[in-house]
Amino acid sequence: MVTLAALLAAGGASAAPGTSRVTVLATGGTIAGAQAPEGGYGYKSGSFDIKDLIAAVPNLDKLATISGEQVVNIGSQDMNDEVWLKLARRLAEVVKSPGTDAVIITHGTDTMEETGYFLDLVTKTEKPIVMVGSMRPATAISADGPSNLYNGVATAISPGARGRGVMVVLNDQIDYARNVVKTNTSDVQTFHSVNRGPAGVANTGVVTWFAPLDKKHGMTSEFGIDGLTRLPRVDIIYAHAGMNPDLIDAAVKLGAKGLVIAGVGDGNMTAPALERVTAAAKAGVVVVRSSRLGSGIVYRNNEVDDDKLGLVASDELNPAKSRVLLMLALTRTSDVAKIQKMFDEY
Ligand code: GLU
Repeated sequence: MVTLAALLAAGGASAAPGTSRVTVLATGGTIAGAQAPEGGYGYKSGSFDIKDLIAAVPNLDKLATISGEQVVNIGSQDMNDEVWLKLARRLAEVVKSPGTDAVIITHGTDTMEETGYFLDLVTKTEKPIVMVGSMRPATAISADGPSNLYNGVATAISPGARGRGVMVVLNDQIDYARNVVKTNTSDVQTFHSVNRGPAGVANTGVVTWFAPLDKKHGMTSEFGIDGLTRLPRVDIIYAHAGMNPDLIDAAVKLGAKGLVIAGVGDGNMTAPALERVTAAAKAGVVVVRSSRLGSGIVYRNNEVDDDKLGLVASDELNPAKSRVLLMLALTRTSDVAKIQKMFDEY
């Protein structure tokens, strides 16, 4: 009879000792979370150290030589500019090290799409960077963290991973950080590259690659973090029926250098809101029209005359990703035409 222990000992895709060197940078999230006692509902993210997580994945050592360090240990709802800059600095050091072939970043799923896109825009390397999280805490029945970590490492050491930039691995699917969106509050298949489809699949450590990302990022990105101690303030304002423009004025008054409107439909908003964002744009605040919908493209000069009003159309980027790109764009320029070009190219 084949026992579970024997199956685990036999390993997944590879039973040979792993020679690739993978560094795990841990930030917390549900993957490091502990469930409420006695199987009750709810959990606390960021409860376990990375060493515990690595030790909990059978045969991970057969894939690669893994070393881990804890950068922060937070739920990703608390992710912020300060942590992004700290993480990006540490990541830049790690990818430069000849002792690291690939990097895994463990992270909560709530804001993984933002952190991943930020890191993809500022990290210059051909070495694979894979973000891994989970939807169920480490102590849950059928926790998904261990298999995500295993497939994440398999993805990171796959020869086809080089030069693809920052990726996200969850529930056997590989997505580019630039494209991926969290789409469901609790489903283990929460991540989708809604406009484009996934970068590949990773099944029990076997990796199959699809098309590379054809957008500027990583080595082709003009952005960096040298000399940055903070990022320019960019606020997101959600559009809806009867949208009142007061929050637009408040954000500008509070010092926002950029605004992203999570618009209705293809980035639209009420006439009073459009009037106030136009005034903000005239005053030098860069305004990006994105969409509150889960997918699709916000086209320039479609329903809204961006040329006349001085606005930027987000193209494919959802509001959260638009905010990331706009913050980095504002570290370079506040010229609307140049920033529109960035939204077309990144
Ligand atoms: N709020 C948690 C986080 O993002 C839960 C989501 C998760 O990790 O899956 O860290």
